[in-house]
Amino acid sequence: MDRTALLRSLACNRFFFRSARRLSRPCSSLSSRSASSSAPKRHRLIPDRSSRRSLLRQRLASSTSSLNFRRSLSSLSPRAVATPPAHSSSEFAGVQDEVAEKLGFEKVSEQFIGECKSKAVLFKHKKTGAEVMSVSNDDENKVFGIVFRTPPKDSTGIPHILEHSVLCGSRKYPLKEPFVELLKGSLHTFLNAFTYPDRTCYPVASTNSKDFYNLVDVYLDAVFFPKCVEDFQTFQQEGWHYELNNPSEDICYKGVVFNEMKGVYSQPDNILGRAAQQALFPDNTYGVDSGGDPQVIPKLSYEEFKEFHRKYYHPSNARIWFYGDDDPNERLRILSEYLDMFDASSAPNESKIELQKLFSDPIRIVEKYPSGEGGDLKKKHMVCLNWLLSDKPLDLETELALGFLDHLMLGTPASPLRKILLESGLGDAIVGGGVEDELLQPQFSIGLKGVSEDDIQKVEELVMSTLKNLVEEGFDADAVEASMNTIEFSLRENNTGSFPRGLSLMLRSIGKWIYDMDPFEPLKYEKPLIALKARIAEEGSKAVFSPIIEKFILNNPHRVTIEMQPDPEKASRDEEVEKEILEKLKSSMTEEDLAELARATQELRLKQETPDPPEALKSVPSLSLHDIPKEPIHVPTQVGDINGVKVLQHDLFTNDVLYTEIVFNMGSLKQELVPLVPLFCQSLLEMGTKDLTFVQLNQLIGRKTGGISVFPFTSSVRGKEEPCSHIVVRGKAMAGRTEDLFNLVNRVLQEVRFTDQQRFKQFVSQSKARMENRLRGSGHGVAAARMDAKLNVAGWISEKMGGVSYLEFLKALEENVDQDWEEISSSLEEIRKSLLSRNGCLINMTADGKTLTNSEKFVSKFLDSLPSNSLLKTASWNARLPPENEAIVIPTQVNYVGKAANLYETGYQLDGSAYVISKYISNTWLWDRVRVSGGAYGGFCDFDTHSGVFSFLSYRDPNLLKTLDVYDGTSDFLRGLVMDDDALTKAIIGTIGDVDSYQLPDAKGYSSMLRYLLGITEEERQRRRGEILSTSLKDFKEFADAIEAVKDKGVVVAVASPDDVDAAHKERSNFFQIKKAL
Ligand SMILES: [Zn+2]
Repeated sequence: MDRTALLRSLACNRFFFRSARRLSRPCSSLSSRSASSSAPKRHRLIPDRSSRRSLLRQRLASSTSSLNFRRSLSSLSPRAVATPPAHSSSEFAGVQDEVAEKLGFEKVSEQFIGECKSKAVLFKHKKTGAEVMSVSNDDENKVFGIVFRTPPKDSTGIPHILEHSVLCGSRKYPLKEPFVELLKGSLHTFLNAFTYPDRTCYPVASTNSKDFYNLVDVYLDAVFFPKCVEDFQTFQQEGWHYELNNPSEDICYKGVVFNEMKGVYSQPDNILGRAAQQALFPDNTYGVDSGGDPQVIPKLSYEEFKEFHRKYYHPSNARIWFYGDDDPNERLRILSEYLDMFDASSAPNESKIELQKLFSDPIRIVEKYPSGEGGDLKKKHMVCLNWLLSDKPLDLETELALGFLDHLMLGTPASPLRKILLESGLGDAIVGGGVEDELLQPQFSIGLKGVSEDDIQKVEELVMSTLKNLVEEGFDADAVEASMNTIEFSLRENNTGSFPRGLSLMLRSIGKWIYDMDPFEPLKYEKPLIALKARIAEEGSKAVFSPIIEKFILNNPHRVTIEMQPDPEKASRDEEVEKEILEKLKSSMTEEDLAELARATQELRLKQETPDPPEALKSVPSLSLHDIPKEPIHVPTQVGDINGVKVLQHDLFTNDVLYTEIVFNMGSLKQELVPLVPLFCQSLLEMGTKDLTFVQLNQLIGRKTGGISVFPFTSSVRGKEEPCSHIVVRGKAMAGRTEDLFNLVNRVLQEVRFTDQQRFKQFVSQSKARMENRLRGSGHGVAAARMDAKLNVAGWISEKMGGVSYLEFLKALEENVDQDWEEISSSLEEIRKSLLSRNGCLINMTADGKTLTNSEKFVSKFLDSLPSNSLLKTASWNARLPPENEAIVIPTQVNYVGKAANLYETGYQLDGSAYVISKYISNTWLWDRVRVSGGAYGGFCDFDTHSGVFSFLSYRDPNLLKTLDVYDGTSDFLRGLVMDDDALTKAIIGTIGDVDSYQLPDAKGYSSMLRYLLGITEEERQRRRGEILSTSLKDFKEFADAIEAVKDKGVVVAVASPDDVDAAHKERSNFFQIKKAL
């Protein structure tokens, strides 16, 4: 995950919370760079809304993901412009059919999909029955994906372990991890794999055709001919094994998936989601965990694992997707090479997903979750109501109506079900994801966390009575209009963030296709949407939605109520059980057995730590430096002036949408007000103005715009003491609504009144709940922020607004809101006063030239209305946390370990080679030692080129001090590095891939603005690119001296379990200051 983005720029952005939650889903927390820097939109037709259940499991793709945001803003940016709509030609259709026939495919169906301006052809491979969807259009961000139906029978995690393992070497690519080689040395815009409860997807994307086909070939060879089905050690490494370093020590479990899932099972929200899914589907494959239950994973045998691959990773059981502007014949040619090697199999019958029958009576389940001892345990209960909505899949119209209903009930803070639950004061935050339609049968779930033991019943009653009320009274007409506009805007804009559009479409299509339904239908939303709108217009929204709530929810007996109880002993009890099993095992073993196990442990480690031979590495195809453009990606930027305010304009095709950022300088804010800033941002959007309630304000924003968000952005600026710190107001609207957009921004900024004490209290509780969640799920981000706060002022500010300090602030604030309200309210007003001025304001706009020109008069009017007081420059915030090592103790079974230092303070001068080198360290040294042999889910380093802070971080790590030793060994690793030209070229190309990462137009405009704010010029970008391209082995050796500073002077922060911190203290006394955070 992109910790920088997370900590610095978006701490209270509503969009961001959404993505933050989504990213904290299992397996995706350190997702690939493409999925990391902004919200990966899922394939849902209706814009995704809030914390959904963890259905999707995503492979940890890049250990360098954290660098991307910084890179994209600091040096360069992407080349792709949004593709203007154009029809793809079908003149050659006849020729294509002939080619397809010759290659062994028959055409099943062909359609033009207006919604994505694409020609889509469904083929069947005659020999095996493999189905191929070939989508052609002019999007240069090409996407390939192969999907297998992989329903598990138990919770040993076979599908998940297999997903990891097939990417560890194959017939044509016989090295340890071709996947990592691709991460290092390709221009991919997406590279990852997902495990769902019933399927496994392998998608790749690239804008470079040669690179794209390389990626496709490596993935095809990996899924069909992986080494892991012959190599037991891969299974051990990725799945599970017993580890015994020395016969005198204790045996322990190791394995990447094993540890990853231990992390997942430490998080209450994940435990809840899993319990709900399993209880809703007791009779089919969804009743077990495809990701693997750490207590069950060690029951998995290698034979079962191999058999699962043989059965399900077969063309007959595959669905294959191609998308983009490449040659459709080439796609079939590549595929036929692989598919022709197989015959038809019976897998499609065996992998069919059974339907779950509906219950005749509701049931109730009580689960324990591991909690800390701090706080009032009585108030830490969670309760969630879950329904299985139907005994069969729904038709598209009903699904669309359900999605719409979901948005109406829960989509915004003003939505009634959400609002009533939060305002009830019965809990801190919403749990349950609303309507979930990714599986064969749809579900609905809603509840609260932070609930008092005595209020469980009340929450259940409130959910039911609110739903009944909605049936009787229907929805407000303005609310319906706002939801309709939001959904239409989102469909039209099709803004998938850094997630390739073709992948978003693939996931949408696969959601039906995987169940043998029509793969075209989910892509065609226009007709059902028009029909739904017409019905609402004719019959009224009540007539449309009330029967749905009644039928699918209120009168539906298939309901599971889950209560989660905090249990401070659970974590240590689970650990105890595991220890006992292992002790029993050890005592049953003879001396020879133990010696043999120690030998096998050694052997595995040796294998993991032995680099691949150069011949094997060469087998992975790569581009050459000649394929790489010498110039950075250009973003048109015109710097102008309106009413004395700087205005940046980016003339890009945006399909008639105007994107804007209005930026205010935080520099004159009093230091003690910094922690209030995120709550200030939320108050602006969710407290209401002098003549609009917050519900009306939200509906107005929903009706007129594509959304407005407000969030702080903070970063160091290279060569300057003063950090760059701003509040960003971000908005988007159709070109014809520009005036409305600026009017609304103005009302939000100037007319909102900070008087609603009750709402403010809710914001505090919600933020606290969210921070606690982050600490458990993204402890590496929290550790990184903490280290930054010790090393620079920008880091200190960010930590105050999103780190452990912020959590402490929120806890104290929660206690004192009532008695201090007057003061808090006037502090919020003071923040506004110190920000809101034409001085220090900057406007950024991204749209086509005509829209930009038309917008200027509204910008001018907007600026006229701003106060023009000159902002007082306060004494600079020269604040940092004390530079001592810290252990943040939380109830967890896995750790997050960080170590960092500022390289600029030791005299290091930035050179582009640093990007190449830090990526290389992450993908080789840290990947091998921290992940592969250390058993952590991830390990990476991050160089913030603005502040100079170089940090090492691990993720879901079973170790603590051992990981620090690995970090300290980095400079020696670099000094002893032997690297041939081929490896160096790959490292350079991979870095360029990061730097040129694909961005949609709004992201380009935003990145360009950040570069402007941080003083990164075009000349500098060009120079850095030159330095990256000319990186040599000598640079690696020199960098070793620079990062020696981390070893010698670095500060350590670990977010860790109490037991591991104790053990560490026994080994190195007083190594850490200890802080209990949960
Ligand atoms: Zn995983």
